[in-house]
Amino acid sequence: MISKKMEALGKKPSAIRAIFEYSNKRKSEIGADKVFDFSLGNPNIPAPKKVNDTIINLINNTESTTLHGYTSAVGDLKTRTVISNNIKNRFGFNVEPNNIYMTCGAAASLEITLKALCNPGDEVIILAPFFPEYRVFVENADAIPKEVLCREGDLQIDLDAVKNAINNKTKAIIINSPNNPSGVVFKEEALAELSGILDGFSSNSGEPIYLICDEPYREIVYGDINVPYIPNIYDNTIVCYSYSKSLSLPGERIGYIMVSPKATDSSDVYAAVCGAGRASGYVCAPSLLQYVVAECDGLNPDIEKYKANRDLLYNSLCEIGYESVSPDGAFYLFTKSLEPDAAAFCEKAKKYELLLVPSDSFGIKGYVRIAYCVSYEQIKNSIPAFKALFDEYNK
Ligand code: PLP
Repeated sequence: MISKKMEALGKKPSAIRAIFEYSNKRKSEIGADKVFDFSLGNPNIPAPKKVNDTIINLINNTESTTLHGYTSAVGDLKTRTVISNNIKNRFGFNVEPNNIYMTCGAAASLEITLKALCNPGDEVIILAPFFPEYRVFVENADAIPKEVLCREGDLQIDLDAVKNAINNKTKAIIINSPNNPSGVVFKEEALAELSGILDGFSSNSGEPIYLICDEPYREIVYGDINVPYIPNIYDNTIVCYSYSKSLSLPGERIGYIMVSPKATDSSDVYAAVCGAGRASGYVCAPSLLQYVVAECDGLNPDIEKYKANRDLLYNSLCEIGYESVSPDGAFYLFTKSLEPDAAAFCEKAKKYELLLVPSDSFGIKGYVRIAYCVSYEQIKNSIPAFKALFDEYNK
C-alpha cells in the first residue's frame, strides 16, 4: 500500500493553487484582461538587471563543469562568505559561513529546519494568519502545529495567547514578518517581549524553544518601517531566508538557513540541519543560482512599483467602504470579507471576475487575501468590480 498521508496531500490542492487553475480556465474563456486574478504571490516586478547580467557573465566566463556541477552539500563557500559578511554589515550580527546552509528557497529552508529540530509529538506554534504550507511542513516533521491567533484588529502578536500555548512539548515558534497574508510587520517591542517569554520557559524546562524566522519578504516594506533582525533579539533563532521575492526569482528556488551562532549547541543544530537536508534528498542548492547570489545578495526589488500598487488598492478599497489591515510590507492586502463565510464571499466575487483567496486556509476566518504583485493596470481596472461587489452587499 502506498502512503495514504502523501496520497491525501497530493489529491488536495492548496486553496491558492485551485484558484490559480480556475483563473487560467477563465482567462482562456473570456480573455486574460477581463479576469482580475489576485490569487498568487508571484512577483510581477522583473529580477534586478544585475541578476540577468550576472547569469550571462557566469555562462560566458565560467568553466561549464564548475558552473553546472555540484557544490558542497552546505553550499558554495564564497556564496556563504558573501552572505555572512552582508549579515554582519546590514544587521550588525556576527555570523560565519559555517552558520549558513544554502537551500532551494524558504519552503525547503522551513522543511529542513523543522525536521532538524523536531522529534515526534513536539509542538510548533504558528501564528494565524499564517502561510498555509506551515501545517504541511510541521506535520511532515512528525510534529503538531499549534495555531495561535494574532490580536484582533491589528493582527500583531498576541503575547498572552502565545504564553498560554507554550508547554513542555513546545519546540519552536514560526515568525513570518513582513507577513503573508496580512502584510503586517511585527513590532520590535513585541518581539523583545516574546524573547523574554521564550527564555523564561526555556530556563525553567532546560530545553530551548527555537524561534524560526521565515523571511522571504524582509526587503519588501514601505516607508520607514523597521523590520527587526530577530537574531539580535533572541539567541535560539534560525533564519529561513529566500530570494524568491527580494530578487523576484521564485521559480529558481534559492535561499538559505542561518543557524544563529548564539543558539544553544549551535554547531549541533547546524549538523542537524545538514542531516535533515541530506535525509530530504537535497544534494545541494542550484549551483548557478548560488553563484548569482554571491554577486547579488543584498540587492532590493523596485519597491516603488509595489508601493504604487498598494496605495492604489488600499486607498480605493477604503474609499469604497472595505476594511483592510494596515499593509506595511509584503505585497498582500488582507481585507474583511463582507459576510462571515469568506469562501462564500470569494464565490460571489467570482461573478465580477475578482479572484481572491479566502482566509480559512491561513487559519483565520472572515478575511480575504488580495495579492497586489500584479500590474497597476489590473488594479485600476478591477476597482469598479470591487465597487459592484460591495454594492451587492449594501443595497
Ligand atoms: N514563506 C512564506 C511566508 C511565503 O509567502 C512563501 C511563498 O510565497 C514561502 C515561505 C515559500 O517561499 P519560497 O518560494 O522561497 O520557497
